[in-house]
Amino acid sequence: MSNVDSSERVDTRQSESSNGVSVVPMIDPGPEYPVTPRAIDHVPFQPRTSLITGGIFLIVGVAWISVVLGAGGPVILTAVSSAGFLVGATLSIFNLLRWESAESAYEKERTSAEEWHRKYANLRAESSRTATVLSHMTDGIIMLSPSQEIVLINEAAGRLLALPADGIYIRRRFSELVRVPEINQSVEKVRRENVDDNVSVEIVDGAAIRPVLVRVSRILDASASHLLLVFRDETEAQRVEAIRREFIANVSHELKTPLAAIKGYAETVELAIEDEDADATKHFIAQIDQQCKRLELLIADMMRLARAQSGKSTLLLQTIDLAKVVNQTLSAFLPVASAKQIELTVAPQKGPVAVMADEEAALTIAQNLISNAIRHTNPQGHVEVTFRQEKGGWTMAVCDDGVGIAPEFQERIFERFYRVHRTRRAHDGGTGIGLSIVKNLTRALQGTVGVISNPGEGSTFEVWLPSPD
Ligand code: ADP
Repeated sequence: MSNVDSSERVDTRQSESSNGVSVVPMIDPGPEYPVTPRAIDHVPFQPRTSLITGGIFLIVGVAWISVVLGAGGPVILTAVSSAGFLVGATLSIFNLLRWESAESAYEKERTSAEEWHRKYANLRAESSRTATVLSHMTDGIIMLSPSQEIVLINEAAGRLLALPADGIYIRRRFSELVRVPEINQSVEKVRRENVDDNVSVEIVDGAAIRPVLVRVSRILDASASHLLLVFRDETEAQRVEAIRREFIANVSHELKTPLAAIKGYAETVELAIEDEDADATKHFIAQIDQQCKRLELLIADMMRLARAQSGKSTLLLQTIDLAKVVNQTLSAFLPVASAKQIELTVAPQKGPVAVMADEEAALTIAQNLISNAIRHTNPQGHVEVTFRQEKGGWTMAVCDDGVGIAPEFQERIFERFYRVHRTRRAHDGGTGIGLSIVKNLTRALQGTVGVISNPGEGSTFEVWLPSPD
């Protein structure tokens, strides 16, 4: 019922909205800028009739007195013309003075009109600047009058609160337009208790639910009873917070596992020493050593990831030969591959594979991809690195005929700590961060990375890096 009421009270005079901000016109905004000062009409030259009548009476009076006093013709003529001259001169001086004072009044008016015009144009420009800023803000802004009516609202507020698209919000009662009890209670609280308040709400916008932080405060430099509501979309902040929490949980989990193993082996070593069992002691010490190495690897990988995520700032971009970098990596991996009876080859190149990259970053990328290929390929398998020149750069492909990756995992393997087979981690030696490092480094080098794979048929990881030119 109240809804009907409110829509009847909607004031269509709201000033809107070329810039997306609606405000109640507090004063008559006047004509559109530019405004030129209106010319003041000149005062016309109009001698006063009273003066003319007085003058005529004076001339007639002088003539009559001359006749009464018995003056001759020339004397009367002289007296009358003297009186006429006197009247004429007085009239002229009087009107000249009037005309001059009208001129200076006009001049004063014109200067003051120009001054007001300048102030008005400045004010108008300032207010349009403020409106533009408000309309471009990602935070929503609403100002409420003492009677809780909306007197100012920007576009973001309408969007964040999922307000009806009719766009008529000005002079509507806030509680009738925004039916979110937590916000209305907060507004009421601030009005009653005179203290600012924050409230987090969830706004249902069609199928989506949007977390919004609302700050309700009093406006101190205007009438104390005006309220300002600021709405902030918390979606991104909550997403980042969730990623942070997940990362900490993952790191703790990854560190806890080898630490727990070390603790267990250490206790067992103690027993083996007590039993003077030298073989068992050696075995458990070797296990402790292995877990320590795993911890080292994990920490080193996390530091590499942090560096990769900090983007370009830590990289030294220069022209490098990618084939040379890969061949350096190869010497370290050949023994590992041959231990697993895997054939590891690099396709020979005629010339240099010149790309614009940081040498160490390129080395890390190649190491991670080749190490993964070897680890996820069964004995007697093959791993091959090839290069092909493409528009604007080179693509390096690391191809294996290993276990492959099902399509549903192909996006996720680039996430931190994501592994397709979680249970395998203890013996495959991976940390789950390798591909995340590759993705972040490639992005920092302005390249791209992708995977083509089929379960059971192997995988090809392709990294494209730009040419120096
Ligand atoms: P990890 O250290 O576990 O290898 P990565 O981030 O390097 O972590 O890889 C994430 C996951 O992607 C791996 O656990 C594995 O399941 C999958 N993967 C990566 N490379 C290959 C590959 N060449 N063949 C099959 N699976 C792979």
